[in-house]
Amino acid sequence: MPYVCTHCGKKMKSLDGFVRCQYCGSRIMVKSRPNVSREVKTD
Ligand SMILES: [Zn+2]
Repeated sequence: MPYVCTHCGKKMKSLDGFVRCQYCGSRIMVKSRPNVSREVKTD
């Protein structure tokens, strides 16, 4: 399941336990859901 860094917003495919963001070093990740259309739409 893909994860999204809450700090920089970069997406990462999978995390095993505690893995830092490869881009900003943040360890705060959220699971990215496939259907986010009901969330805030930026189109
Ligand atoms: Zn990040």
